[in-house]
Amino acid sequence: MATRPPQKKLFSRKKVCRFCADKIETIDYKDYKTLRSCVTERGKIIPRRILGTCATHQRQLCSAVKRARHIALLPYSGTVQS
Ligand SMILES: [Zn+2]
Repeated sequence: MATRPPQKKLFSRKKVCRFCADKIETIDYKDYKTLRSCVTERGKIIPRRILGTCATHQRQLCSAVKRARHIALLPYSGTVQS
């Protein structure tokens, strides 16, 4: 059975905003590779608490994704159900 070592820190790693880490000031909406990694398969933006993005970059990401959707770089809602 699984035993729990008393002094193992599993969640000690601090989540750092990836855009801050890369020193990206403005998120390019044409950079769909980055955007795609920040949205789900269905095209939904992954929430900040999961991505670890800071508020500033999450806001930029949001508008970048919207722009990317507008020029069809990203899907609006993944699979279309009819
Ligand atoms: Zn950031």
